[in-house]
Amino acid sequence: MYIGRFAPSPSGPLHFGSLIAALGSYFQARANQGKWLVRIEDIDPPREVAGAAELILKTLKVYHLHWDDEVLYQSQRLNHYQAQIDQWLEQGQAYLCQCTRKQIKEAGGYYLGTCRSKQLSGVTNCAVRLRMLHPVESFEDQKHGTMTIPTPLAQEDFIIKRRDGLFAYNLAVVLDDIYQGVTEVVRGADLIEPTGRQMSLYQTLGQTPVSYIHLPLAIDKNGNKLSKQNHATAIDLGNPKPTLLNAMAFLGFKIDNDVGALSIEKILAWGVKNWQINQLPDALNIIPRFSNAPL
Ligand code: GLU
Repeated sequence: MYIGRFAPSPSGPLHFGSLIAALGSYFQARANQGKWLVRIEDIDPPREVAGAAELILKTLKVYHLHWDDEVLYQSQRLNHYQAQIDQWLEQGQAYLCQCTRKQIKEAGGYYLGTCRSKQLSGVTNCAVRLRMLHPVESFEDQKHGTMTIPTPLAQEDFIIKRRDGLFAYNLAVVLDDIYQGVTEVVRGADLIEPTGRQMSLYQTLGQTPVSYIHLPLAIDKNGNKLSKQNHATAIDLGNPKPTLLNAMAFLGFKIDNDVGALSIEKILAWGVKNWQINQLPDALNIIPRFSNAPL
């Protein structure tokens, strides 16, 4: 069975860019008669905004994007992430690393395995890195074909737990996608680069990787991604239809006036029926076409 998901971080309200990821993953899951899960990626408390998770869920409801099963919160999964790290540390597959960002930058920008054979233990203020046994330098995106990842990046022993004690996004996302039985990941093109690391984690864990579709990224006139960090405006909760239609046009739907006049529920049902990956624009970065799009 197809299982897809939308996995927002609660660092702010849903904005136009995250609505694209929600809709793309929703249409792809429903068009495949699959499940669509929602996972709140709340593993980075310093970047969290109080009430954002509830607001995101409320926004999905207002847009009639109804998810299956219970929402999974990553903050409830910390023991599982730690157990996996402990296992790798015991097996020597992961190791503690004291290098600072500054030291890595001075050494050329990529981590060269400085602490790999130091066998540090009992030291505090360390990151945990995974020995890169399965570098992934390219992968097949279901929309964009072969995507390549720079070799030094693909070969890096990457961080699975940060110096500040927080779990790394790549580890949490892969362990949870496996835990939830996700079969395909549909998300924004800003996450193409970490995909190689995520696929290498599947190999390290002896699991079959999911398939991937990366959606075009909404950018502003200066070429910056619409993101919570850039303070993109929250999408409209009072009058969701125009924003929904804008987002669907962004995803390549040709919506005529008759469809535009339907209820949100019916527009979504029409979207599920008419969804096609090849209608998605080829460009990875796009400025939304409608000047009234709530950026
Ligand atoms: N939580 C990530 C974000 O909000 C997305 C994770 C993913 O889709 O893999 O950017």
